[in-house]
Amino acid sequence: MRELTYIAPGKLEWRERPDPAIQTPNDAIVRPLAATTCDLDQLIIHGRSPFAGPFAIGHECLGEVVAVGENVRLHCVGDVVVVHWHISCGHCVRCTSARPNSCASHQPGAMYGLPGMGDWGGTFSDLLRIVSADTALTPVPPGIDLAGVASAADNLPFGYEFTVPHLAAAPGAEVLVMGGCGSIALYAVMFAAAAGASRVVYHDVDRDRLAIAERLSAEVVDGAVPRSAGSFPIVVDASANAASLMCALRSVEPEGIVSSVGGHFKDEPMPLFEMYRRGVRFYTGRGRGGPNVATVLEWVADGRIDPTIIVSAVAPFDNAPDVLATPSLKPVLIRPAIHAQIGGRKSHA
Ligand SMILES: [Zn+2]
Ligand SMILES: [Zn+2]
Repeated sequence: MRELTYIAPGKLEWRERPDPAIQTPNDAIVRPLAATTCDLDQLIIHGRSPFAGPFAIGHECLGEVVAVGENVRLHCVGDVVVVHWHISCGHCVRCTSARPNSCASHQPGAMYGLPGMGDWGGTFSDLLRIVSADTALTPVPPGIDLAGVASAADNLPFGYEFTVPHLAAAPGAEVLVMGGCGSIALYAVMFAAAAGASRVVYHDVDRDRLAIAERLSAEVVDGAVPRSAGSFPIVVDASANAASLMCALRSVEPEGIVSSVGGHFKDEPMPLFEMYRRGVRFYTGRGRGGPNVATVLEWVADGRIDPTIIVSAVAPFDNAPDVLATPSLKPVLIRPAIHAQIGGRKSHA
């Protein structure tokens, strides 16, 4: 089978490897139908991360179940599912407390599509082995646009995680989103607006992303990052930029929360005294993934959000090496039958 291999900045290629097989009765094999880049993949592919090739890239996909082990109860051959980005067992103390992204049964950080996290393959591939399939897959509800939810494993629920629970605790609160990293910031804007934020302010310098944020009814701010952007109870840093992170930390209400999606690959000094005086809760992490996937799909299915607005290109799966070599917000690579169904709605130029 083929798997998309990241070689060096701007260079990807299909490489052959043996088909994965069911190794335990809890495994399944999935054929990716639609796969997209995490914002981290865009940083990697365009030379803005510390990860060096070659390695199989990609950890966001939907796929079709093509084989199941004898203990798999919740999924059948033919089901269309979201493949959770992390490798998790489903029964350890972390998996059973909504932290499958740090499963204690596998090596630290175990996930698809990154070097040093285990040889699990990447989601731009013909087949994937799924460990503990009953907990690692979520069915896709019928009738929703598959390209729009190609990110339902990771970046889409990341946007949910950093906004919706905080707005549930502080209904109608104002939200600041520092953009720049890519799609997660826009998913955060989308969820914040849908969850009833009274005001969503979005900072960025990219015209296309600013335009999307505006369509999502954010108040957009284009240009240089200020020292502080105001005073918000809920702040999201999805900038991959140190100055924006500092601005986020200085723009939070007393006892408010700043969540950072990462993209910062080295130590950064933090305004700790200022944070101490005001009271700042700071969280950074890779996102919990699995526990929020089904909820996010419900929000799409019942029309509360429409993530298709974030999709920047839809292209045939085979074209992945060329399509992904060009910077793009959320390019979705899709199998030919589905591509034909949706009519190449946003064909890659
Ligand atoms: Zn990711
Ligand atoms: Zn576990």
